[in-house]
Amino acid sequence: MISSRSDLVKGWELIISADKRMYEKYCLFDIPLPRFKILTARQAVAKFYQMAILHNRISQKELKERLYQETEPRTTISFYQYFPIDEPQHFRNELYQALLGLHVFGRIYVAREGINAQVSVPASRFMELKEYLETVPALIGLRLNVAVDDDGKSFWVLKIKVREKIVADGIDDPSFDMRKKGKYVNAAQMNELMNDPDTIVVDMRNHYEFEVGHFVKAIEVPSDTFREQLPMAVEMLKDSKDKNIVMYCTGGIRCEKASAYMLHNGFNNVFHLEGGIINYAQQVNEAGMESKFIGKNFVFDDRLGERITSDIIARCHQCGQPADTHTNCRNEGCHLLFIQCEACAAKYQGCCSTACYEIMQLPEEQQKAARKGVVKDRNVFNKSRKRLNHDLKDFKD
Ligand SMILES: [Zn+2]
Ligand SMILES: [Zn+2]
Repeated sequence: MISSRSDLVKGWELIISADKRMYEKYCLFDIPLPRFKILTARQAVAKFYQMAILHNRISQKELKERLYQETEPRTTISFYQYFPIDEPQHFRNELYQALLGLHVFGRIYVAREGINAQVSVPASRFMELKEYLETVPALIGLRLNVAVDDDGKSFWVLKIKVREKIVADGIDDPSFDMRKKGKYVNAAQMNELMNDPDTIVVDMRNHYEFEVGHFVKAIEVPSDTFREQLPMAVEMLKDSKDKNIVMYCTGGIRCEKASAYMLHNGFNNVFHLEGGIINYAQQVNEAGMESKFIGKNFVFDDRLGERITSDIIARCHQCGQPADTHTNCRNEGCHLLFIQCEACAAKYQGCCSTACYEIMQLPEEQQKAARKGVVKDRNVFNKSRKRLNHDLKDFKD
């Protein structure tokens, strides 16, 4: 008989040590401790197995192999929806079992404020997935964005995580309500609003995204994080509460929240671009409309950007010539994301600085040694300008 939480933990440890291999497979850290306090050892075992089927048990390597053995093509889709979820863990568990049954892979976040998903589904089961999602009333009519130029091999396991928020926002005001959000605009409405002199278009993305492409006359909110951008946007626009504020981002999820935040802060005419730049570009293409978004839409795949118009609005970070090709520094210890023209790419062998260029000239062993102790920073992207300007002083020859 287990009668306390610590006994329960001990019980789990017993079960675990009884089969260490199983323990490793069962991704234990993802399993929350049960809330009940009294249960028999047998019940504990039953609970353990019940939890285990809600989580992946197979090694990453095997999963990848399985994916590559699949013959049926997969469709990669993304979707999000803000809607109140009272019991995110329960919602998550039901969703996990249903999607597992449909052989869906991908990454999904569930929070009290909604759901955000990037998944792949076998092409023949796409409709089944859509039908399943629509059994949730708030997801009826959900826009599923189908990725183009995608081989469907981006995911090989299904991960659904419960989070505090689907988009971290730093808002702790309990009266903030995502149900009070701005009006959606489509591409045609966006273009029309932009012709109105009382419209301010606000880009809610990061600097490196804005740099290579943005809406004509859009303003940038200069911060590295979305949570800092929200109060900053309010401050920047505080004298324009009656103007049309049109917010946009890559896929719509950030600007939708930003629009609710602006309304919450007393702005009266707030709009946001439905489905973001991705959806705008598709609509503009299909209808043969004028694109008021110029340049490239930065996206996080191998292409690092999708050309929307032929305008090149950025400059090479090294020589200052017009260029809008993002690249990662070839020195693995650096990996900095920056804009490099073709000439500089050839001249500096894809490196961002003299320091990196010199490291790349060393034999592999010494390169490894140089990398040692250097912690790779995922956020290095946003620092590119600062860092490059600093580095470039001694880079130009
Ligand atoms: Zn250059
Ligand atoms: Zn570098």
